[in-house]
Amino acid sequence: MQTSTRNDLLLKRSLAAVWHPCTQMKQHETLPLIPIARGEGCWLYDFDGKRYLDAVSSWWVNLFGHGNPRITAALTDQLAQLEHVMLAGFTHEPVVALSERLSQLTAGALGHCFYASDGASATEIALKMSFHYWRNSGQPHKTQFISLAGGYHGETLGALSVTDVALFKDTYAPLLRVSAQVPSPDWRLAESGESSRDYAIRCAGALERHLEQHHAETAAFIVEPLVQGAVGMAMHDAEYLRRARALCERYSVHLIADEIMTGFGRTGTLFAHAQAGITPDFLCLSKGITGGFLPLSVVLTTDTIYQAFYDDAVPRGFLHSHSYTGNALACRAALATLDIFEQDGVIAANQAKSARISAAARDLAAHSRVRHFRNTGMIWAFEVAADDPGFSRDFYQRALERELLLRPIGNTVYFMPPYIISDEEAGLLIDRTLELIDQS
Ligand SMILES: *Cc1c(COP(=O)(O)O)cnc(C)c1O
Repeated sequence: MQTSTRNDLLLKRSLAAVWHPCTQMKQHETLPLIPIARGEGCWLYDFDGKRYLDAVSSWWVNLFGHGNPRITAALTDQLAQLEHVMLAGFTHEPVVALSERLSQLTAGALGHCFYASDGASATEIALKMSFHYWRNSGQPHKTQFISLAGGYHGETLGALSVTDVALFKDTYAPLLRVSAQVPSPDWRLAESGESSRDYAIRCAGALERHLEQHHAETAAFIVEPLVQGAVGMAMHDAEYLRRARALCERYSVHLIADEIMTGFGRTGTLFAHAQAGITPDFLCLSKGITGGFLPLSVVLTTDTIYQAFYDDAVPRGFLHSHSYTGNALACRAALATLDIFEQDGVIAANQAKSARISAAARDLAAHSRVRHFRNTGMIWAFEVAADDPGFSRDFYQRALERELLLRPIGNTVYFMPPYIISDEEAGLLIDRTLELIDQS
């Protein structure tokens, strides 16, 4: 591949000095790093102007395009006032306004916001808060957590304890607390003749049996509502969430909705759990919250939980903290992101856009090598029949040659584009993906 000196130089310096995430670095002896000089809309550009369509929203964070001018303007304004102040003992307008707005978006049900900077930290906070709530409520033996088979909740040690992706977890098993996994309502696993809803009901039965036996020592059940992302975009029927909510209620176990990926419109509603008409005890948000501009995460919870910490005794309080908790710039980016949702009627517009993209993908869905073509909101996924164990890397590399940033998970190819993707760009994505499948 012909690259300019600037591209080449950046690659060499990166490989020498940067330890890249989720990467066996030795693979970069053959797999080139991609230098990015700038981004605009759905596109990323290198120093020569070679471009890539960001069909995975840069690891699922970007909502309204790279360099979005409205988020940029809000950040520029915020920079002139306050970049950051510690949030213990101090407060500021962006964090207050964001907390008020997020609470309103849960109709006030989740009225208390605790901030961190990344998704894994939000998981840690929800797990610690749940345990600490039960401890403060005279039930210190509730120390166990449940998650779904194939669940992903981040990779710090506490979050990894409830994550169930072998490649990320097995190496560190000796360092982790054991948690329980219950069957995933992933609709691909339904028996033939069994509807996705019936299968969800069957899986809720498995959760019920687990809770019957273990509720006394269980603090919380953590779940990615509607779509389990990192395991390969496993989708399930909302009925599972309704039943899980009722079971958690019955057995005094918290329900943690990890909407780090599904939040902010990704599944067609602002939050995925709303499609089940339920309210979780904890709601974890990150990724799209700042439109993909800055790291920020938040855990929302109920007044009941908040009140169990409110006391004269300091150790009954939630003493968890991160240096950048409630960073003013990140909160301001999140406010600008929520403004775009409101001003542009994004949720309604996405419904129409999602239907148009699904219609345009008919040939892809019907392709002889495509299995389980599925869609929820602004996520599309399917498996490609292929024996090659290196399918994912090979597909990724060949996609880049066709100007597409696609990062299959095993044999699962997925599209999770920024919401501003145009019909033309979606058409290009679909056509070139079809070419890739035909030629692999
Ligand atoms: C990405 C993700 C996380 C972890 O977030 P990080 O910011 O990568 O730590 C947790 N849960 C879900 C569902 C995610 O998709």
